[in-house]
Amino acid sequence: MTIDLGALRRNVGTLRRAAGPAEVWAVVKADGYGHGAADVGRAALQAGARALCVATLGEALSLRAAIPECRLIVLGPVVEADVARAREAELELVVSTSAVPERIPVHLKLDTGMGRWGLSELTRAPAHVVGVMSHLASADCDEDFTRRQIERFLEATSAWKHVTRHLANSAGALRYPAARLDAVRCGIALYGLSPFGADPGGDGLEPVLSWTSYVAQVRLLRQGESTGYGRRFRAGAPTWVGIVPVGYGDGFRRDLTGTQVLVDGEPRPVLGSVSMDAFAVELRRELPPGAPVTLVGGGLLLEQHAVIAGTITYELACGIRSDPARARRVLVDA
Ligand SMILES: *Cc1c(COP(=O)(O)O)cnc(C)c1O
Repeated sequence: MTIDLGALRRNVGTLRRAAGPAEVWAVVKADGYGHGAADVGRAALQAGARALCVATLGEALSLRAAIPECRLIVLGPVVEADVARAREAELELVVSTSAVPERIPVHLKLDTGMGRWGLSELTRAPAHVVGVMSHLASADCDEDFTRRQIERFLEATSAWKHVTRHLANSAGALRYPAARLDAVRCGIALYGLSPFGADPGGDGLEPVLSWTSYVAQVRLLRQGESTGYGRRFRAGAPTWVGIVPVGYGDGFRRDLTGTQVLVDGEPRPVLGSVSMDAFAVELRRELPPGAPVTLVGGGLLLEQHAVIAGTITYELACGIRSDPARARRVLVDA
């Protein structure tokens, strides 16, 4: 697995140019969407991101140990018993209920239509409020509803212009100038993945992660023979297959049957069941073992796998596991 921090920095630059003068805050929850939170966080700050956002206190504390000096905002709930630890680590918290912790910077979160976290109204509290925020539910797919959320937020926060107002995620930052306000919280776009499930190049974004392996065994299936669990692929004619030592234990999901990977640079279909540690790919002809296989990268987009798996790039990226006992993770700065 290769993480291209140069691409990440360029994506931050692209977002800063698109959203400026709003600040770009880098969302690195879920281990930086599977890319490695500390590496990605550091690179994003170097490229001009002004804060890092995570979901949980635990994520914030481990990130704080890796990056002592940066604004670090916990987007999700933190129980009262943990507020002292958050204070000690100099975190900022997001508050979505009437229980507002004191002596720590907080962002009040208003629910404008996500129907998940958030206050139904902003009220003044005896607290150190540094921001007011909300979250867009469908900036990738529903313009009317997004415009309503933006209007509702602008209206509700008109008396809060002295604090940082922030609303946009990646899709909002890229498509809705009115949502940019003082800061945008970008996750998926940082990683060069499209919030719209489209080609990220259309928004000037470059994929940060690439994933390669190799054909470890080559075999000829005779007519009627099968490969893998459940015999879900049976050869209708003699078929060369390559076995690749990557599986759902690494995050190459079981529902990726039928997707394409690049073998020696050529798109070839994944056959049969993906197992925990291996999958089969149909070859055009006999190849020597060792042929390179690209699962993501070299023009093959995670978005294409998401279509086959019936999910979004967010979920695929978060599921990719860079357990050093199974996969080698390399940082480059291209
Ligand atoms: C995850 C998250 C984001 C980032 O969303 P992307 O679509 O990945 O840009 C922004 N804001 C909040 C509150 C989030 O939870």
